Amino acid sequence: MTKTLFETAKPILEQLIDHQFQAFFVGGSVRDYLMGKSIHDIDITTSATPDEIESIFPRTVPIGREHGTINVIFEDDQYEVTTFRAEGQYSDHRRPNEVYFVRELYEDVKRRDFTMNAIAMDINYHIHDYFEGYKDIKNNIIRTVGDPIERFTEDALRILRGLRFQSQLSFNIEPSTYEAMKRSIQDISHLSIERIVVELTKLTQGTNVEQSFENLKSFNAFEYIPFFKQYDLTKIELTESTDWLLFLAILKAQQPQVNANLSELKISNNDKKQVSHYKSLIQALPKVQSKNDLKVFVYDFGKANILHVLSHHTQLNKNNIAKYSPLIINKETIEEIAAQLPIMQRKDIDINGKDMIEYTDKKSGPWIKDALRQIEIAIIKGEVKNLKSDLLEWVKVNVKIS
Ligand code: ATP
Ligand code: MG
Repeated sequence: MTKTLFETAKPILEQLIDHQFQAFFVGGSVRDYLMGKSIHDIDITTSATPDEIESIFPRTVPIGREHGTINVIFEDDQYEVTTFRAEGQYSDHRRPNEVYFVRELYEDVKRRDFTMNAIAMDINYHIHDYFEGYKDIKNNIIRTVGDPIERFTEDALRILRGLRFQSQLSFNIEPSTYEAMKRSIQDISHLSIERIVVELTKLTQGTNVEQSFENLKSFNAFEYIPFFKQYDLTKIELTESTDWLLFLAILKAQQPQVNANLSELKISNNDKKQVSHYKSLIQALPKVQSKNDLKVFVYDFGKANILHVLSHHTQLNKNNIAKYSPLIINKETIEEIAAQLPIMQRKDIDINGKDMIEYTDKKSGPWIKDALRQIEIAIIKGEVKNLKSDLLEWVKVNVKIS
């Protein structure tokens, strides 16, 4: 077990305590620490109010002041310090109408989602565990703090968080928590798509994704999520950790007749491009019938992308897409071809549109793009050398200019 991050952050807790406040580590880092996993970021919870936190530490950033979170900068690291907080009523299934700063740890941990996430730990590594979270961790159980129906009705994101933790931690969902997830699932339609995407991204990547994905499907969760509601998710199998963008590409490749726009997921343009690149790659796989085809395929899609998609061949198979010949397409041949590609991109061709216009005396037009594609393929297949004089000669003989 690694204590290092807690040790580095200890002076912050000590300072708060020196000023007569209570201060604890809390949340995911304590859960992961108790599970013997490595921890990446720590959350600190304290009885000090944001004003009090700011008066104690010289360098702070008020990143979430209205809900009690102040970042404390200490020895070039930033730590999230949040005031003990209780929550008012919820009326929109996504956030409380108001939050109150309180002085009792119990009030703060009571509003947290799962027992395993509601454990506070002090500077001496003693845990303050009001809801038997450590016992649940030892038994691999995900259980809400308090009545699950109430907790999911308050904030439906907890349903998706629960399923995402099931995927990441391979824990079981306690029966009444599970039943409440099923009953409240339609409330996820009130969540912002950004928050849903954050959880789904982590879920598809988890090692236990098979089980949590089955749960999502059996709850009909996707019917309440933009973009996905247009697809038939019952046809999708996800049985191993799969990155989110590849998962989206598999869905699109399996059901190309569906006209759904990735913009509905509010993912970045780069992510959208990567999804459509993966999708085209998947769709092109069955068309690769010879070593020469494979050369063009490696050139077009890139070794890293291809190897990544092929590492998920089980997923492709299970979803009935991209049947391909392993005799032609395999890691060794791809590595070999990638190492020998005469050009890496269109820019590397030794002639350009201007050269062709000059040489052929034709007007510029769409033929240039077609010709460059033909030239590129011929170079990749080794039919012509990437040398200006050879290429111009080749154009004369092979390219029909209309
Ligand atoms: P991760 O390891 O993915 O960061 P985490 O449990 O730390 O998991 P965070 O989103 O970082 O998740 O949240 C920190 C803590 O805040 C949680 O452990 C939990 O105690 C509390 N929390 C977060 N989201 C909610 C929520 N929607 N409802 C109630 N408590 C929540
Ligand atoms: Mg966290």
